[in-house]
Amino acid sequence: MSGPGEYVPDVTEGITRVEDLPEPRIERRCRNRPALPCPRCRHRAGRYAVGSRTLHDLGDARANRPVDLVVAFSRHRCLRCGCCFPRDISDLALPYCQYTRRVQQRAVRLVAEDGLPYQAASWHLWRDHCVFVPYATIQNWVEAAGGKNAGHAFGQLPRRGFG
Ligand SMILES: [Zn+2]
Repeated sequence: MSGPGEYVPDVTEGITRVEDLPEPRIERRCRNRPALPCPRCRHRAGRYAVGSRTLHDLGDARANRPVDLVVAFSRHRCLRCGCCFPRDISDLALPYCQYTRRVQQRAVRLVAEDGLPYQAASWHLWRDHCVFVPYATIQNWVEAAGGKNAGHAFGQLPRRGFG
């Protein structure tokens, strides 16, 4: 699966348990604002708390380390209409998803475009990107994206390949 280039010994070779992977490198992202316009009434909504989400990202294959993004984001409350909402981080990850969009898109492409079975796609992500995604999760993503033969239905995916 890797392209041409220098040979890099694979320290994950032989690892069969996710707990045995090297410690993830933590990258911090800050989506913390003092105030945002209310999505309902456009009134200024001040921050009342700061939340945090940890997202598994594509790992550092060269260093053989997983990468986790820790995203701090502000939570806001509108004093005019009472609406409470968090700072949008959907460019990084979908709500309730513990993986970044990059992981999700890579997984869907492996199945929908490259035609890998779910288990093989899971193995590829672990082996080449140091990120463990259970194959059932990949299956859910692919089905949500429109099925195994409909990778193009996944809106965010630019088409790759033949002209
Ligand atoms: Zn409001």
